[in-house]
Amino acid sequence: MTTRRLYYDDAFTTEFTARVISCESALIPSFPEAKAPAWEVVLDQTAFYPTSGGQPHDLGKVGEANVIDVRDAKDEIIHIVDQAVELGEAKCCINWPRRFDHMQQHTGQHLLSAMFQERFGLPTVSFHLGTEICTVDLRGPEPAEEILEGAERAANQVIFEDRRVNVRYGTAEQLAQVGVRKEVDRDGILRAIEIESADLQPCGGTHVKSTGQIGMLLVRRCAKVRQDWRVEFVCGRRAERFARRDFQLLRRLAEGLRCAPEEVVAASERALTERDAHFKNVRTLLQRLAEAEAVAALQSTNVSANGIRVVARVFGEDTQEEYLAQLSTQLAKFEKTVALLARSASGQVIFAQHPGAGKDLNALLKQTLQRFPGKGGGTPDFVRARLNENERAEEAISFAKGLISAA
Ligand SMILES: [Zn+2]
Repeated sequence: MTTRRLYYDDAFTTEFTARVISCESALIPSFPEAKAPAWEVVLDQTAFYPTSGGQPHDLGKVGEANVIDVRDAKDEIIHIVDQAVELGEAKCCINWPRRFDHMQQHTGQHLLSAMFQERFGLPTVSFHLGTEICTVDLRGPEPAEEILEGAERAANQVIFEDRRVNVRYGTAEQLAQVGVRKEVDRDGILRAIEIESADLQPCGGTHVKSTGQIGMLLVRRCAKVRQDWRVEFVCGRRAERFARRDFQLLRRLAEGLRCAPEEVVAASERALTERDAHFKNVRTLLQRLAEAEAVAALQSTNVSANGIRVVARVFGEDTQEEYLAQLSTQLAKFEKTVALLARSASGQVIFAQHPGAGKDLNALLKQTLQRFPGKGGGTPDFVRARLNENERAEEAISFAKGLISAA
């Protein structure tokens, strides 16, 4: 039997009485939303909107049972509920805040799509009402910032004028004659939603009574999705929430940057420029420090029996990994010099030599890693490794120093 759809004629029905025609245990695999056993209920009439046409289903109650999903099954509407209900009369109610939010977003979508099409020649090819964000996919060239703003402003103008939203019925031909936005190729009587002097669009969804009830429409990001442009928007309470959240973010940023909210862009640009300058500065200073430290290290290192100078050092946590490489490079600039460096905090090891020193540092590393396991490699003149046990860095360096000084 055909379920009478009360929401077609009155989208503002929140409570109604209906006859329960059937209640059968639902097959769980076909209803993954139902985490526990569920039942399929069919009523003689319903105000519950089923998921369809881009609008999500309603929630609410049929008798004592909670409605967890509503599905459109051709003539019937199937209510998925969390407990069995008895046949016969049942009092039903819709979760109104959820439904009204959907009506605001959905009517806002009609309006926004109309503005993109009428004013900027960008037709909507699909839309989606998400739990957070709603989207319309536009076909055509990329909408510039002015177009996004223009469509938003035009939609809000129609909202402020509080125009009536009417339901009209007619054949596809009749609707085409009065300028329907999207022509449909379907027989019989169609339902269309008219926003006075703004839009006429075939739709079976639920809508507010007048545009003022949309409250406010905010257009947000636009991104390319396949060949189309996906424009994010929110209406009503969501617009309020997003605007509030945006301002809180801005305020936190401003507090962090110690400036007024309107100065955030300039202040963050300044902070980034300063950061880059400091970064460059630090690199230059580290370079100079490495040069100076290399000279000092050589002066305090004796030449070993085989004519090689071995500078062995283990650094603590306060020395950056990058500095080890800088220092080893500086040391390797000196004739017959080998640098054996490590960082105890990370177990990082660098061996480097002046090519004239003539040692095979790869072989030295291999021997060292046999005793102190880790991973690494390089060329005969420069190797890097990381020890598995960083606290053995000191031992590993003196072991390597022993090997190379004796060779
Ligand atoms: Zn609609």
